[in-house]
Amino acid sequence: AVPLVVAINTSMAASNGMLIRDRIAMEEARNLDVVVFDKTGTLTKGEQGIVDVTTTGTLTENEALTLMAAVETDSEHMIGEAILSEVEERGLTVPDATGFEALEGRGVRATVDTTAVTSGTGETKRESVHVGGPNLIRHLGVEIPGEIDAFAERAGSRGQGVVYLLREEEAVAAVALADVVREESFEAIEALHQMGVEVAMLTGDSEDVARAVSEELGIDTYFAEVLPADKDEKIVELQEGGTLVAMVGDGVNDAPALTRADVGIAIGSGTDVAVESADVVLVENDPRDVASLVRLSRKSYRKMQ
Ligand code: ADP
Ligand code: MG
Repeated sequence: AVPLVVAINTSMAASNGMLIRDRIAMEEARNLDVVVFDKTGTLTKGEQGIVDVTTTGTLTENEALTLMAAVETDSEHMIGEAILSEVEERGLTVPDATGFEALEGRGVRATVDTTAVTSGTGETKRESVHVGGPNLIRHLGVEIPGEIDAFAERAGSRGQGVVYLLREEEAVAAVALADVVREESFEAIEALHQMGVEVAMLTGDSEDVARAVSEELGIDTYFAEVLPADKDEKIVELQEGGTLVAMVGDGVNDAPALTRADVGIAIGSGTDVAVESADVVLVENDPRDVASLVRLSRKSYRKMQ
């Protein structure tokens, strides 16, 4: 019995934003071989964002985004919100639009004051502007220029969605949308690697998306298109031969995997079920705290051997 070390360890953990629900798991954390992260909401933000922009050269990227935002101003679609927040982040001014129409399942249309992007002519100009996906392009029979088509193909191979900008039914720009990776995830994975811990990712998302996110983050192994009921089986597979495995997740469907793992870690605003199934709860929604947990475990229990 080493109550003193455990007490120190627990209060240190608390001041680092960790709630220890199982002290044995906390002790095991120093020997972890693999940390498995759930993707959506853990390594990524779990919401769509603009990850890439292209234009045919008649507009700058920023101009294209402001025209898109003008049309999306009244849209309630997630895609519209992603475009508006990108424009806001870039501090761009959105031109006026009238006659907004939502084209169910295809996109949006409005008449936009394009004076700001037709600089030099000095005259006020109003144009019909569409923003929409492949369905809209097909519906209108619009021809996509080669460079935009190549952009769309590349985005598709990464599992990203593509939305086009049409001026008077001519395609002049496109954006790629994806579930955005958290900045903190890069550091979290690098820190674990430096401690000699392997990193894996588990997701119900497509193979294309999983591969792209893994490559971006430098993840060693990923499991894609995993049904909620099969997540804990992947943990068992990894544990073969005595490999010590941690699972990091936030959702209801992560609960069985959290229970199965040697160290179950619920992150941030995790659901009650996830928290109940976890050995450790990371209070802040920050994947870097997983590395801190391993570090703290090593520091605390080294003295006990
Ligand atoms: P989903 O549930 O997949 O979003 P929707 O019927 O809402 O299905 O939209 C289908 C497709 O139409 C979207 O994936 C997108 O390509 C396009 N779309 C719909 N609304 C918009 C919008 N406001 N802006 C741009 N594209 C849109
Ligand atoms: Mg929808």
